[in-house]
Amino acid sequence: MIRFAFRKYLFLLLTISSLWSGLHASPTRVRIGLFYEWLVFSAVVTPEQGEWIVVADSFAYPAQGMTYVSLVGDRVLFRGENGMKRICEKLLLRPADSTGVIAIRPLHIPAGKRQYRGILEIIPEPTGLKLILDTSLEEYLAGVVYTEGGETAGIEFYKAQAVLCRTYTFRHFDKHGDEGFHLCDGVHCQAFLGIPPSGHPVYRSVTETRGMVVTDSNGELITTAFHSNCGGQTADGHNVWIGDMPYLRPVKDTFCLYGRNARWTRSVPLSDWENYLREQGIPEEMLHPKAGLEFFQPERTDYYRLGDYTIPLARIREDWGLKSAFFDIGIDQADQDRVILKGRGYGHGAGLCQEGAMKMSELGYTFYDMIRYYFYGVTIQEYVGKEEIP
Ligand SMILES: [Zn+2]
Ligand SMILES: [Zn+2]
Repeated sequence: MIRFAFRKYLFLLLTISSLWSGLHASPTRVRIGLFYEWLVFSAVVTPEQGEWIVVADSFAYPAQGMTYVSLVGDRVLFRGENGMKRICEKLLLRPADSTGVIAIRPLHIPAGKRQYRGILEIIPEPTGLKLILDTSLEEYLAGVVYTEGGETAGIEFYKAQAVLCRTYTFRHFDKHGDEGFHLCDGVHCQAFLGIPPSGHPVYRSVTETRGMVVTDSNGELITTAFHSNCGGQTADGHNVWIGDMPYLRPVKDTFCLYGRNARWTRSVPLSDWENYLREQGIPEEMLHPKAGLEFFQPERTDYYRLGDYTIPLARIREDWGLKSAFFDIGIDQADQDRVILKGRGYGHGAGLCQEGAMKMSELGYTFYDMIRYYFYGVTIQEYVGKEEIP
């Protein structure tokens, strides 16, 4: 009976404490699966700044110089430059303080060397070494903003990107929960290639927007879509993803019209184009005269129309590897046996247009202006978690 009562109180206590932390849960640390898009069987790990400790199961050593790690059977082999050698079930590299920098260079894959701050875990798996970085949320976000937003842009643009990346992080915090980390470092989640150069404005963009996220009219974290250049009009979210996203509505964008990715052309042999249309089920009679193949898209539409027949433009984009689905089709006047595709923009076109937002940043707009311009009816606010984030 006593035991039962104790359990009941314990349960109540746990419920109250989880509710409390749930309401105020804003994670400060994040676990990232590194080199997620690669199979890593061996790597060179080098402490580049500060003191580091290697923990091989229950044995700890000071890390000195390069450490070679590799998968041997179902264990990790660790070999230090100082002759230290050990086989273990789990390897940890831990810095003495938060300024420590460590570099990882996987061997036999062309991923290159990347630098990180945080605690590195190396776990053997049948498919290779699992590399997990436990780092501060701010270090991670600065790295993502740098990778996704480029090296040279205005501070307000970086802030917009920081708020969107933070929103994504919280919305998808446990995307890889069953693998022992929160998010991966590939485009599957958010591209993260390590720490940016010290003093880079992306760090400021993260600290000056601390805790801020974007929510929709129901207070839910939004789908934080962004792309390189919309070509003058953003896409409706419904054309890119399935789901109810009223904040992803088409926006006429004049800011990106002179951006690097504003326009593109592609020349295709007429016979290849005709064959493609046949494969798509367009009947022979629709292919003649060839002037009938022409198509104009002054505003974004969803389909290439040939009489009563249609092909989704998103499918054509994918099949031909085009930069966008926002293009016209014409017969080349200089060579009537070729078709010219004249396109605008780069990317799926939904949400924030990066080249447009960069221009806005240059013209003195704030990150609030940018986010509200590209996302309809959203609120930028301090994150108040509704669900507990582990
Ligand atoms: Zn992922
Ligand atoms: Zn644009």
